[in-house]
Amino acid sequence: MKQTSKIINQAKKEGRKALLEPEAKLICMDYGIPVTKFKVAQNETQAAQYADEIGYPVVLKIVSPDVIHKSDAGGVVINLKTAQDVQNAYRKILENVKKYKADAKIVGILVQEMAPQSTETIVGAIKDPQFGQTLMFGLGGIFVELLKDVNFRVAPITADDAKEMITQLKAYPLLKGFRNSPPADINALVDILLNTSKLVMDNPEIKELDLNPVLAYQSGAKTVDARIILE
Ligand code: ADP
Ligand code: MG
Repeated sequence: MKQTSKIINQAKKEGRKALLEPEAKLICMDYGIPVTKFKVAQNETQAAQYADEIGYPVVLKIVSPDVIHKSDAGGVVINLKTAQDVQNAYRKILENVKKYKADAKIVGILVQEMAPQSTETIVGAIKDPQFGQTLMFGLGGIFVELLKDVNFRVAPITADDAKEMITQLKAYPLLKGFRNSPPADINALVDILLNTSKLVMDNPEIKELDLNPVLAYQSGAKTVDARIILE
């Protein structure tokens, strides 16, 4: 795949295990996994210009090899509606990250399309020492953290496996459509799981992959955050 091996080799050369969000998203794009539109800005003016190009509202995020959990560092600001908002958020993120880790290396600030709110799902992969690449699917927030309502399958998976990973969740009724939440596009989620399976099978040096969250819509689904850790 065109960008994937280049990105992985570059990270290896720099001795980095954790890929940056834009790198992980470029790899997702290689495998047909839908992600939010993004660009990496180097200054406030450029950030505002990229936001104009992408269209408001936008989200700004820190891009740094020293910040893996971006929100913990005050490195994510969502729902920016004007160029002025973008410039203010740009400064605020740099300020927050400096407080979090004074010597953090800053690659830039990610400007990305703000995806409409919807049911948050999680697609993951881990390389199990015994079974090899293993996929995970669940719903975001308390469903994963508190209820541990997640399903695993050893990769490569079939479309039937992917469908089961989704429909066998205890929280599946939420995806099927519940009260005022409309039904999610299950086929779009199946496609993401199948493409993620291919991604990790093609790239055995991936130790962990975390698409968290993947927003599930009535039509389609979109990855708003992606993390990939190499061996
Ligand atoms: P972290 O590194 O802290 O996991 P995320 O990129 O996941 O950072 O951002 C934190 C939260 O902000 C996400 O869980 C999601 O709810 C929201 N978010 C991030 N990016 C977007 C986006 N492009 N559109 C909508 N919501 C977003
Ligand atoms: Mg996240």
